[in-house]
Amino acid sequence: MYAQVIVDIAHSQVDRIFEYSCEDGTPAGSRVKVPFGGRTVDGFIVGLSRTSAYPAEKVKPVSFVYEEPPALVPECFSLMSELSERYRVPKAVCLRLFLPSEMRSGKVRELYKKVLKFSGAALSFSGSAKKQRQFYDFLREAGQAEYTPCCEKFGRGAVNAVVEKGGALMERVRINRSPSGFADGEEAGKVLTPAQSAALDGIERDSRTVQLVHGVTGSGKTEIYLNVISRALQRGKTAIFLVPEISLTPQMFSQLKRRFGERAAILHSGLSAGERFDEWWRLRTGEAKIAIGARSAIFSPLENIGAIIIDEEHDGSYFSESAPRYSTLEVARLRAEHNGCKLILGSATPSVESYSAAVEGRYNLITLKERINGKPLPHITIADMRKEVKRGNNTAFSSALREQLKDTLESGNQAIIFLNRRGYSRTVICQDCGYALKCENCDVALAYHSEENCLKCHYCGARYRMPRACPECGGLHLRYGGTGTQRVVADLKHDFPSARILRMDNDTTSGKEGHYKILRQFAERQADILVGTQMIAKGHDFPAVTLVGILDADMSLHFSDYRAGERTFQLITQVAGRSGRAGEAGQVVLQTYSPENAVLRYAVNYDYEGFFKNEVALRKATRFPPFSLICRVMVTAEEDGPALEALRGVYFGAEELRQRHPEEFIFLNKMHSPIKKIQGRVRYQVLMRLEDGGLLPEIYALAVKFSSQKALVYVEENPVNLS
Ligand code: ADP
Ligand code: ZN
Repeated sequence: MYAQVIVDIAHSQVDRIFEYSCEDGTPAGSRVKVPFGGRTVDGFIVGLSRTSAYPAEKVKPVSFVYEEPPALVPECFSLMSELSERYRVPKAVCLRLFLPSEMRSGKVRELYKKVLKFSGAALSFSGSAKKQRQFYDFLREAGQAEYTPCCEKFGRGAVNAVVEKGGALMERVRINRSPSGFADGEEAGKVLTPAQSAALDGIERDSRTVQLVHGVTGSGKTEIYLNVISRALQRGKTAIFLVPEISLTPQMFSQLKRRFGERAAILHSGLSAGERFDEWWRLRTGEAKIAIGARSAIFSPLENIGAIIIDEEHDGSYFSESAPRYSTLEVARLRAEHNGCKLILGSATPSVESYSAAVEGRYNLITLKERINGKPLPHITIADMRKEVKRGNNTAFSSALREQLKDTLESGNQAIIFLNRRGYSRTVICQDCGYALKCENCDVALAYHSEENCLKCHYCGARYRMPRACPECGGLHLRYGGTGTQRVVADLKHDFPSARILRMDNDTTSGKEGHYKILRQFAERQADILVGTQMIAKGHDFPAVTLVGILDADMSLHFSDYRAGERTFQLITQVAGRSGRAGEAGQVVLQTYSPENAVLRYAVNYDYEGFFKNEVALRKATRFPPFSLICRVMVTAEEDGPALEALRGVYFGAEELRQRHPEEFIFLNKMHSPIKKIQGRVRYQVLMRLEDGGLLPEIYALAVKFSSQKALVYVEENPVNLS
């Protein structure tokens, strides 16, 4: 047999197929070691053949085959080709996506334990072999037992002697390090509401691959997903279920584990390496049938997939930020097509792109307009912060929010306060010369953190001591600008001294279970107020929350990004959706400096359709996505020289493309990126707005061409973050 092998080296020069001989029966998809240029390297068998195009003496044999079953499922090969062509990355890099990183590093291995089984042989023992007899009798009773505890109890010598005499058989048994602590008990399916049944039937009857479930917050979308999964399992198939960020949605996990038990495997970064590895293997061997995880779980080693679900499909985390910079929705669609199954996208606030596809009929649209039990969506009050300032209120809280907080606490309910800024203050500014303290590695202002009494850079994590005087002019009047979560907590403690307050942001959620701990404490009502950043906006279901305060609703409105309006609408809807989910009706106070803004108006009325029509008209007129494609080629380097050289190369290449295809270009320019330096690397960009994706292959080729040791060049399509 001959094996077509891709070597596990991320370099375009070896990005092709090499041929080796292998033993008959070696399966495709196996990880192997092969001789390569005088050394031995890892590789993957991506194909097999009976004959070789090369003379037999030229073909070297595979030196080692790793595990059984082979790590890669057959579907990987076609996906690898598609992704490597689409994003211009070596095939080896694409194949790596399909493996847990622990596996390639070889640092984590399967875990085995030794088990002793009673052989049935009748043995006799001399009087001095008392321990041996005791162990033998014990094992005859028990049938089997673990080796190590037996040695502790009866002595290793006695145990080994019985094994040697043939009284006990030693076996190695694979152990799974399955993550624990998520599920308690089991849960049966709920009786579906008519709206949920109709949605399920709608998905089942429609023949289109992509199904978009647009359901208001609390409309019971999760139960629909669970039923889609059940039905897939009933047909003997498997399923993938993606959520934006796993550590933020422990409730979702518990629910899946309770419903599907061992059939569900969890893949997320909070697990230990061993746990992740074993969960992955359970999927690969077919022991587990449902993969649950964030973005990367789309590459789960499942075969015969019956459904793929992407919850909160609008979320920015579904775009990869390292090569290949894939869109999870795109990969999911490819896998759905390969498997002939449906891709279900769900959201209360679908992305403009997805909703457009539904309106145009490319996706099937399923709408759920009401919350379960017909509970009304929480009422949103707008607090005009300009008026507050005029009235002399310079605190972070409007009088409306303060009143509502007081009522909520008095009635024994819980409140959530949202603002998208951690630390104590956003910046520290010198009142004498206006200088804002900056990071040395990044072109960004430093935030003050009161707990550690230091300045932190939110881009690279660098810490600085708080200076006494301005480093520019020596002035002594340093002022904190812009409120952060720490300051909000301090102010709340001052105003509501008896309230119990929790804070959830990047600073409080480190550690394996950081998020989980805070969310559990709040769910168990060990606190009255939860203050947090966008982490608290995700799909949490806290029944006792009746008030949500949104402190800086319009902060994201002023981003110079075509998605600013969309993101603001999504954020408000998601955060507001945490209020009044059970029992009492919910309230929301939305603080803003631009109360007349159209996006806020639509959000306050939960008018997604209105927002969408307005937004689409705007984007059509200004020719922004989905009516064009934004393409940014990023160039980063440690020094300006190589960066500018690469930038010029890419820019001239793009300019040349424009001369050949003027009709494809709406905009083309080269410039500094908005943040000129991050982690010590200077950042430049060639920014393009294109009619469509027709020229993408050539633009990717430009990025490859001008990438070097000194300058990193990469392409971003409709980037989520234009900083
Ligand atoms: P969404 O994901 O649409 O925001 P959820 O799936 O969190 O909504 O559902 C909201 C609440 O309704 C949850 O507490 C859930 O347990 C409950 N729920 C969902 N479906 C049903 C049902 N068929 N019967 C009773 N309760 C339900
Ligand atoms: Zn920095």
